[in-house]
Amino acid sequence: MNMTEETLAGLRKSIAGAMKGGFYRGHFKGIRPEDIQSRADFEKLPFTQKEDLREAYPLGLAAVNEEKIVRIHSSSGTTGTPVIVPYTRRDVEDWAVMFRRCYETAGVTRADRVHITPGYGLWTAGIGFQLGAELLGAMTIPMGPGNTDKQLRMMEDLQSTVLCATSSYALLLAEEIERRGLRDKICLKKSLIGSERWGEKMRKRIANELGVELYDIYGLTEIYGPGIGISCKYECGMHMWTDYLYYEIINPRTEKQAKPGETGELVITTLRKEGAPLIRYRTHDLTRELPGACKCGLDYPRIDTLIGRSDDMVKVRGTLIYPSRIDELLAAIPGVSSEYQIQIDHLNGKDIVNLFFETVLKGRDEMKNLEKTVEDAFKHTIGITVKPIAVAMGELPRSEKKSTRIFDNRY
Ligand code: ZN
Repeated sequence: MNMTEETLAGLRKSIAGAMKGGFYRGHFKGIRPEDIQSRADFEKLPFTQKEDLREAYPLGLAAVNEEKIVRIHSSSGTTGTPVIVPYTRRDVEDWAVMFRRCYETAGVTRADRVHITPGYGLWTAGIGFQLGAELLGAMTIPMGPGNTDKQLRMMEDLQSTVLCATSSYALLLAEEIERRGLRDKICLKKSLIGSERWGEKMRKRIANELGVELYDIYGLTEIYGPGIGISCKYECGMHMWTDYLYYEIINPRTEKQAKPGETGELVITTLRKEGAPLIRYRTHDLTRELPGACKCGLDYPRIDTLIGRSDDMVKVRGTLIYPSRIDELLAAIPGVSSEYQIQIDHLNGKDIVNLFFETVLKGRDEMKNLEKTVEDAFKHTIGITVKPIAVAMGELPRSEKKSTRIFDNRY
């Protein structure tokens, strides 16, 4: 994004704030905030990686005295030590203000009833949706995840109009509503979906089955949580709240700035965060900057819908595969649903790619033909040989968490 003198001053201030804490004092050793006088100076600063944050466990990220910290959140620790993020009173308020702006961008008003299914607790999602909706003045229904029976009952009896969910949970609820014939009893108009990589086909399926407008909301626990950006009704990427953060798009391999419009990894620096400011944080989310003004009139720049994660790209027999390309390819084949799973194994010196996908087709011959179509499409479009296995609708696991569809079992 553009770097004005004002942004530069904000960045210097944020760096100075960050260096009051132990983590950045060590990470930026020898650097003085006042020496950052240009964009080039800023872009010479070392990146911050999630691994660095883990090493600061438990409270090494705190950049203020403990008396100022009112809350902590933590990112999921499924792959080792969790990251603990401390928030000050103002951080909590800033986050709610950004989140209210997300709801407003989606056209949600005080007359709405907001049904919140993401988890509450150490994870940032649920409470972020909650505080933003309360600040807006809407009625909130703080469900949290799970218990589909109760979700549907509340949705029907309380006449929820806005559903907040991950895409896989929204899909699960959509399928249940369809299966139980509840469509006419449900009043949902809009759905705010935590942004993760999801193909156009899955998006359309959720929108159609729930009969709602969909909005992609962006965020990560390390930087407030969800709510730092959202798509508008024109569905052309996500507006980012650049009064609270500065972002860059870099080439994840060379670590240089991506050319305008080129896809790369999103890197974020917080401008106002007190508890745990982050400078040049590598999100590993792949996107690109979208040029020009948006038709909605919002004066915040946009990044494109995420196309995956830089650590999700897998190499199979020398070919690099982006998850988004698989989404696109499968979306173009009639009869193939948006749910799939890839298992990569290494057997007898060879990489084997098993691709499970759901289909509405039922006959054995029809399914065999569809598998052949998918195999040919992979060979011609991506250039790899896969072994497609068609399964019935609903057979692949749905989850309430962000779903992973590629499993690399080779290492
Ligand atoms: Zn817009």
